[in-house]
This record gives sequence, structure tokens and C-alpha cells, in this order.
Amino acid sequence: MPPHPQYPRLFTPLDLGFTTLANRILMGSMHTGLEEDKGSLQRLATYFAARARGGAGLLVTGGIAPNRQGWLAPFGAKLTTAAEMRKHRVVASAVRDEGGKICLQILHAGRYGVHPLIVAPSPVRAHMSPFRPWEMKPRLIRATIYDFARTAALAREAGYDGVEIMGSEGYLINEFIAPRTNKRTDEWGGAFDNRIRFPLEVLRAVREKTGPDFIVIFRLSMLDLVEDGSTWEEVVALAKAVELAGATIINTGVGWHEARIPTIATMVPRGAYSWITERLKGTVRIPLIATNRINTPEKAEEILAEGHADMVSMARPLLADPDFARKAMEGRADEINTCIACNQACLDHIFEHKEASCLVNPRATAPPSAPPMRGEEGEATRFRGGLPGNNAWSEAEEKGMGNPSRKSALPPFSPLLGRPGGGSVAVVGAGLAGLSCATELAALGYDVHLFEAAGAIGGQFNMAKRIPGKGEFSETLRYFGKMIEKTGVQLQLNTRADAKLLLEKGFREVVLATGVLPRMPDIDGIEHPSVLSYLDLLLHNKPVGKRVAIIGAGGVGFDVALYLTEPDARAQATTGAAAGPELPETVRLYLQEWGIDYTYSHRGGLTNPIHAPAPRQVWLLQRSKGKVGERLGKTTGWAHRLTLKNRGVHLWNAVEYHCVDDAGLHLTVKGQPQLLEVDNVVICAGQEPYRPLLAPLEQAGVRVNIIGGAKLAAELDAKRAIEEGMRVALAIAGTPPTAA
Ligand code: NAP
Ligand code: SF4
Repeated sequence: MPPHPQYPRLFTPLDLGFTTLANRILMGSMHTGLEEDKGSLQRLATYFAARARGGAGLLVTGGIAPNRQGWLAPFGAKLTTAAEMRKHRVVASAVRDEGGKICLQILHAGRYGVHPLIVAPSPVRAHMSPFRPWEMKPRLIRATIYDFARTAALAREAGYDGVEIMGSEGYLINEFIAPRTNKRTDEWGGAFDNRIRFPLEVLRAVREKTGPDFIVIFRLSMLDLVEDGSTWEEVVALAKAVELAGATIINTGVGWHEARIPTIATMVPRGAYSWITERLKGTVRIPLIATNRINTPEKAEEILAEGHADMVSMARPLLADPDFARKAMEGRADEINTCIACNQACLDHIFEHKEASCLVNPRATAPPSAPPMRGEEGEATRFRGGLPGNNAWSEAEEKGMGNPSRKSALPPFSPLLGRPGGGSVAVVGAGLAGLSCATELAALGYDVHLFEAAGAIGGQFNMAKRIPGKGEFSETLRYFGKMIEKTGVQLQLNTRADAKLLLEKGFREVVLATGVLPRMPDIDGIEHPSVLSYLDLLLHNKPVGKRVAIIGAGGVGFDVALYLTEPDARAQATTGAAAGPELPETVRLYLQEWGIDYTYSHRGGLTNPIHAPAPRQVWLLQRSKGKVGERLGKTTGWAHRLTLKNRGVHLWNAVEYHCVDDAGLHLTVKGQPQLLEVDNVVICAGQEPYRPLLAPLEQAGVRVNIIGGAKLAAELDAKRAIEEGMRVALAIAGTPPTAA
């Protein structure tokens, strides 16, 4: 086969000796919650079948425990018996039927488990678990090695192509390796050779039980990012030993879960960690996989082209778009629904003990619809799946792979009206809710007219994408722009649709996605010229002084604080002596800001962070007494709070606002009257729905559907907006429009 014209390395097969992977794309392990299904694993099978059909070279399941002590949570997924093995057959065969390959990840949670049975090399508690682990007796260590091997053998029997042994992120194996958590003095602790005995014995036992023609990936923590982690010399020595012990591939692990450094959030530059994989290149002969914040085929190709790795791992990007690989291969990369690394619907859900989904793709793990399609078969196939090129879910459904007994996270895909096109619908507002609804309706065969008062699509996302570290958000707008084109939505920008226009055009069904207006709190002096709304800043570029108070510490208040305190790029570049001049500037500054030691001269790869001075002094204020920012996402909120603290932002709760005047903002803080002598007060006090068209349209007998912020402004975020737009489109398709 000739090399792929755009991504020659990404689409080069990888020969593992006994088997060949079709390309260099690994869907990395990611827990979705589907692994815990108490019925069959049919939904997990459907989920992975879609990703196999989407062209990924190799898939890895979420973590499956080798025994009860290794559970992440009580009654978590484990593979220890023949009965459990039989449940997994459907997953392996579904992937095989699609021409794909899949490994089962064996993950022993160690001290990160949240149940009373947890064990670890030493009884060192992790802050994320309420339980102190039991110290493992030598007999239990031997039994656990056997359990890993038994799970691997069962995985092979179930039809998996291999296993990944989770040896990083601070789970059990990593706990044996690092002196931080291994305080033993017997043959399993102390000297390095003793600390790596457990992973090596696990590997040897797995290889012995599964034979030479079975993929065994070892996920090796190359950068622990915690104190008393491994040294670089230890990482290299372990990699060599891992190769000798029988691993087929080494995958990169970065950062323990308890590390206070964001490693996968939006603020982390793309490909920020491929340098660590590159550093290992040449020391072992087996293939190496690079990981973390690789979300486009371009970045993946670049990493391979620069020789940093032999394969790239992308987990969330394939959750966001199961057809990622196929679209890239077919020269349709601009149709990829790009993961924006927000964590809002995937990891945040998992931490809240909910199933993972995806902000940009609410169908990511949704069960298929229960009722079979009515109408013409051809129509059904054409319309059922939603957006063209993103219809993996519906295809899986057509193969009868769904579990109709499960309650759907989305309304069932609705029967169509029995004709191509369900009529004409106006969608007013091209924010995320309107975009999602319009493109979904058009994909369902409707003639959709999308009206937008502004000169560009995107609504609130046009502001969000300006926040430092949120540049990825523009990818979602690129995706919807492409889908507008593909589905034939008739977009009218710079058009403020009023009731007269909509009635004149004869729409009998209208979707109002007109969004929100900022709430202006009832404070004396709110009209003072120093008072700005976040729109003034982020949309209208109004100038802001050096001392700023922000009223309201929700998501927008935090965004504005980050925006106002972002150090000037030159100030960052000249602060401190950042290592790694060969790295891209964004990566270098990120390493510097978070204290990641590119020279790797200390255990764990940590060094002192260097913070460039913030250009402004900022106070972020809230009236309630709780922790400032406590409602931010679980997996990213702490990083935003830490960033602001490092920039000297004052996070004040329990404040009472009195007035704004020439002197500044007068307020009471914890009972004490104060004057904040600020140049500007920026209002980020939430929003109110904006829906002036509702009454006139309803009076005229038009059926009106309200979505997004126009329906409910409180707690509105992009996740709800996109999902609601999709739900309403599907609901409209289920009901014939009123006759004109
Ligand atoms: P929000 O989260 O509701 O926060 C509004 C803030 O304003 C609250 O801190 C509230 O706290 C304060 N407030 C409300 N009414 C007020 C009044 N009358 N006077 C003074 N203060 C008042 O709204 P938002 O910040 O606009 O965010 C909107 C949505 O977008 C949220 O769902 C948010 O999660 C989402 N978002 C998320 C992110 C993210 O990074 N994940 C970023 C941006 C937006 P007190 O009442 O305690 O003062
Ligand atoms: Fe990516 Fe956000 Fe979707 Fe998770 S929820 S896969 S981070 S876009």
C-alpha cells in the first residue's frame, strides 16, 4: 500500500511479530462505567465495536480488577471467574467482527480503591480514599501475581487480543515501584531491584499463562509528578526489565492521580508529554506509545514523524468521535468532532459515579433506542443515525447490538414521517444548543433555517474560546460549521429573526435557542462607568484597569479571572530559566508554570514552579459561604483555583455588596465593611433567559420549542446545551409538524 498522503506514519501498520496492527492509533484505556454493567456487557461491546469500525488500530478497555482487593469501588468490574469471562466474549467478538483488535486492561487499584478491602505495599493512605490500605503480606503478594495471570488467561479465553497491565498513575504496581508508597524492608521493598520485583513477576506470570502470541502492553509511569516518585534512571532500568520480562509494547503513564499538576485538561498544551516518551526511545526495542493531550491526527502524525513514539494513544478523542481514524484516513479530518479536553461529561461523570458521556457527543455511550424503526428501510438507515459521518451508534443499533432494556440517556431515535424530509423548521440562535438542534434536524431530513443575529456561529463559546487554555473550544465551532455545510442547514448570519419574519416565511415549527442575557445585580451604582459585564470584556474588548473586582465566582467569573491575570507571553518567557529550548514555547511555559522538571534531576520529575507576575490585581467575590469555585468540575476545578492562587488572585466568600462609586466597590466581608479601591468591577453574576419571541409566536399558533439558556439559564453549560438541542430535534422528528 502506498503511504497515506497526509498521515503517512499514522496509517503505517505496526508489525508486532505474531500480529499486525492496522495503524498507529491506540484507543487508550478509559473507564466509562459500562464495564460495571451487571447484566451483559452488550453496551460495552456496542461501544467498542463502533470504535473498531471507526478504524482505530488497537483498543483498550477500561480497568478491570484481577481480584476483589483490586476493585476501584465496591463491586467494580473484575475478571476472575469463567462466568465473568463468558460475559466478556461479546466484547471481544464484537470488535473482531468489525476487523478490530482489543486488549483488556488489568488494573489493581491498590490504595486508590474506595472500599475497605484495599491493599498496598505499605499502609500509606491516599487522600482520595477514606480508607487506609492493608499492608500486603508476602503470601498475598504472590496470590495477587497469580490473580493478574489468571485474569490475563481469562481475557485470552474470552477472545481478547491481549492485555494492558496498568503500572502507572499511582495504582498498585506503581505503588510498589516508587519509594513514596513502598516502605517495605523485605524482598518486595527497599532497593530498586526489590521495588520492581512485583511488576516484573506480574509480567512474567502473565506471559507464561498467555503464551508468546498475545499482546501484553505495560503502562509504565515515565513521570510520576509526585515527591519520592521514580528517578529517570529507574524508569529506564524498569523499561529494559519490562522488555526482558515479555512485554510487547510499553505505553506511557504520566502523573499519579494525586499529583497536583493538570496533565490532561484543556489548559495542557497538545502533545505536552511526548518528550518523555521520546526520551525512552532507543533504550528498548519494543514499540513505545505516546499519550496525553493528543487530539488531532496532525498532532499524532507530528509526534510519530519527530520520532517521539511508535504509536499514539487517544482515549477521550475516540470517545468524542468513534470515527476519528476513519475520517482522518479518508481525508475528512475537518469532520472530526474534536475532544476539547473539558472532562465535563467523561471524567467528571466517573468521579460523580455516573456513566461517562461526552460534552460534544452526547451519544458517546448512550444506549440505542428501544423501538425498531418504522417507515421505509432506506429512509431509516439514512436518517436514524444523526449527523452524517458520525453515525457509528446507529450502525451498531442496526446490527441489533443494543440492550433495549436499559433506559436511554437520549430519547429513542424517532420514527420518521415516511418521507424524506420532515418539513421546514426555523431554529433561532446559533449558539451550541441551536447548532446541535439545527444540524441534527437537517440530518433527520428536515429543511432547517438557522437564524443568528451575530456575524458568526457559536454564541457563548466565542467568549469561552478566548480564555487562556480554552483555545480548543474553537474546534467545536469548526465541527458545527462543517456539519452545517454537510447537512444543508440554511444559515443566515447577521439576521435578527423577529416574529414577523418567521411568520412571513410560514414556519409552523420554531426552535428558540436565543440564549441568555447577563444578570445585572441590584447594587447601587451598577450604572457607574467602571462597571463592566463579562460581555464588555470578552466580546467587545473594552479596556480594563490594573485593579479589578469580579462579582460572581461561577464558571464565568473564574474564566474572567484567568483572562485578566494571564501573564504576558514575554513576561512568562523571560521569567526563570525554562529548560527544554527545543520544546514548543507553549509546552515550555506549561512545564515551567507547573514545576515539571524537563531535566528530570529529581525523583518524580518535579521542580519549583516559576510564576510570571500577573498583569493585574484581581478579587474574585461571592456572597455564599462555601469554598470559592466549589461547583467547578471535579477534575479541573482544583487546577483553576490553584492557578488563580498562584497568580495572587484574592478568592473571597461571604461578601455583601453595597455600592460602586468613584472610590471603588464598597462591601462587607465576613461582617467587616471594606472599600476595594478598584478601577473596574466586572459583573459575572449568572444569566437570565432571553426569549422575546416566545409570546408572539405562540399567539400566532406556531409550535415553539425552547432549548438551552433561553429555556433555563441557571447551570447552563455546553454539555446541557448540546444534548438538549439533540433531544429536541429527535422529539420534533417524532411528531408531525402542524399542517401549514
Ligand atoms: P453561575 O455558575 O450561576 O455563577 C454565578 C455567580 O454569580 C455565582 O457565584 C453567584 O454566587 C453569583 N450571583 C448570582 N446572582 C447574583 C446577584 N444577584 N448578585 C451578585 N452575585 C450573584 O453562572 P456563570 O458563572 O455565568 O456560569 C454559567 C454556566 O456556565 C454555569 O453552569 C457554569 O458551570 C458554566 N461554565 C462553566 C465553565 C467551566 O469552566 N466549567 C466556565 C464557564 C461557564 P453568589 O450568589 O454566592 O454570589
Ligand atoms: Fe473530551 Fe470533554 Fe468529551 Fe471528555 S467530555 S471526551 S474531555 S470533549
